[in-house]
Amino acid sequence: MSSIDPTAISRTRSPDLISGYRLEKLVGTGGMGEVHKATQLSLGRTVAVKLLNAELAKDPSFIARFQKEAAALAALSHPNVVSIVDKGKTDVTYYLVMEFVDGPSLRELIRAPQFDVFGALRRMLEICRAIEYAHGRGVIHRDLKPENILLDQQAGGIAKVSDFGLASFLEDASPSSRYALTSTHVSMGTLSYMAPEQRVDAKNADARADIFSLGVILYEWLTGEVPMGTFDPPSQRKPGLDRRLDAIVTRCLKPDPDDRYPSVTALIADLELLVPGSLPSMLPVKLTRVQRIKAGVSKVVRFTAQAAAVLMVLAASFVLGTAFYLSGERERRERNDERKTPRSPGAAIMELTLKEKTKQSAPSDVQTSPAHRSLTLGEGPDAQSILSTGRAVSFEDKSLVFPWQDDEPVGRVRVDVTNRDGDILSLKARLLAEAPPPTWDRRLGDMMKLYQPLPSPSVAMLLTGTSGRYVALVHNGVGEPLRLEWDLGERRGTMLGMEAPKPKADPVAPGAESPKADPTAPDAESPKVEPVALELTVDAEGRLEAFMGTGKARRVLFEPLVLGTGWVEQFGDAPFPGFGCLDAICRISGITYVVKQSPPGGTTAPVPTPLPPPVKTVAVAVPAKAVVPKKAPPPPPKKQPARPAPKNGKRR
Ligand code: ADP
Ligand code: MG
Repeated sequence: MSSIDPTAISRTRSPDLISGYRLEKLVGTGGMGEVHKATQLSLGRTVAVKLLNAELAKDPSFIARFQKEAAALAALSHPNVVSIVDKGKTDVTYYLVMEFVDGPSLRELIRAPQFDVFGALRRMLEICRAIEYAHGRGVIHRDLKPENILLDQQAGGIAKVSDFGLASFLEDASPSSRYALTSTHVSMGTLSYMAPEQRVDAKNADARADIFSLGVILYEWLTGEVPMGTFDPPSQRKPGLDRRLDAIVTRCLKPDPDDRYPSVTALIADLELLVPGSLPSMLPVKLTRVQRIKAGVSKVVRFTAQAAAVLMVLAASFVLGTAFYLSGERERRERNDERKTPRSPGAAIMELTLKEKTKQSAPSDVQTSPAHRSLTLGEGPDAQSILSTGRAVSFEDKSLVFPWQDDEPVGRVRVDVTNRDGDILSLKARLLAEAPPPTWDRRLGDMMKLYQPLPSPSVAMLLTGTSGRYVALVHNGVGEPLRLEWDLGERRGTMLGMEAPKPKADPVAPGAESPKADPTAPDAESPKVEPVALELTVDAEGRLEAFMGTGKARRVLFEPLVLGTGWVEQFGDAPFPGFGCLDAICRISGITYVVKQSPPGGTTAPVPTPLPPPVKTVAVAVPAKAVVPKKAPPPPPKKQPARPAPKNGKRR
């Protein structure tokens, strides 16, 4: 046990204790101190602030350990690892700031009466992938236990490994830096989850100690009990369990590390066999079917809702507009520095906006009369304006294009629609991300090993609210899993979905076997890449879903992200459609943005009769006839409803 009196660390804190943050609420205490839900004032977002207990801060070894926790977190950028935001020290208090994970710990989940083996194994795989990743980055956790696994409810309950307070770095061999755990440190870990060799000689425990802890967690999750001494195999404690789990758990729990799985990767390989359809970084097929059913249900809901809805459609098959180029040299340099550390594409793209102090509104030619029922972006006097930051954009062949710009890897646009009220939303477009062309200095740099390999080219479809709030659907262009990222004030997270189609390799291209264009191969032709049709929708209940493909090939990408009714609040303001480009040449075409009002009386009403008042917005309302309730209205916005003959010779 820690020598610290728990009451000593739960005294009320002044909300202003840490400059730049406002402490809101104590959410947890542990061996090191306390964790508060807090607001990061500069960005107006919720974060978690961990404060090192004042008594412990008198001991340099605890300060070192606290710093180590920050260093471990900073080395890790993974959807299943809590991310770090900041660290620092006031006059007396050491603190670190992390993403706030809104949800219970695994401890509470294990206690819950309902138990679903596949659900547990899927989560277990997430935890294992986080640890596999950490080990790959040279970090051993050494304190894995249910209390230190948080479940992000806003992200469909995905697991996030936290509390790297006992972590060590593999490459760090010096006794002081590798840091021998004192008896106090050890006692602060929980012995039941600790590998035998770690209990005896913590500093020599290696990555296999984490595998032991993973075994204890899995055993406890499956059976409700912690394995002690000679333990029964899980299937004996819990009849009906797949017997293969016995072998997996037992191998993790071998007293001799040499008898355990040699790596978490090997453990994952065995676990994956037990989760139907599970593939690395992909949601299980089983789940996808469920998602499809859910998608079907929500589609029906949307059909009915559409019957009496007033539709505002902003359809853009090509975009011409006015772009603002807002970034200065200093910002670029800062961003280039930031590129050296891994970051999530959506956040990186949104950083541009956060730094964009100039809230210039683009010249808006869209102040059209309500007679303008349909608007196509970009032609004639009604050209839709867009705001761009970072990299300049151009318009080519009905596409919005971010051409490559060596000094500016990031670009972002916001389509400046002027009325976005409504509680049902859909944003669709075809997105393409291509690797930038090789440059001579990069080739030279590669030869001299001065450069890191180029990061994956990314293009993102964005729904952007105020003060950095956004949802981004990120496509990497190299067949990596699509990512859904969001930062909605209190809700932040990432989900990995299914893999995006790999670029079709050109049969004669020398780099054909590699899905990623090799930027260093001077004459390699880039693989042929095709745009991926992506879609984000939010229904009236605030369920955000993402899709890939169109028509019959349209597939759900992720578990829905539940924002709740009144979801617009999550964005701070009704979201603007936007697009971002990172380390890539990006092309975006076929942009369709639909915001509509669910019919009065709830979305489930089969055919609501009273039509809502006509929308007075600029942005594009559908012609009246499209909102007359129909028997079987088409799914939105598969096909654009009939629109009046466009003015000014506008085309779709
Ligand atoms: P200790 O090192 O003192 O054990 P932890 O990092 O485990 O501290 O945090 C203690 C508790 O605080 C956790 O069990 C959890 O309830 C809460 N907590 C920690 N980190 C976060 C976070 N990022 N978001 C939300 N709650 C957190
Ligand atoms: Mg803890």
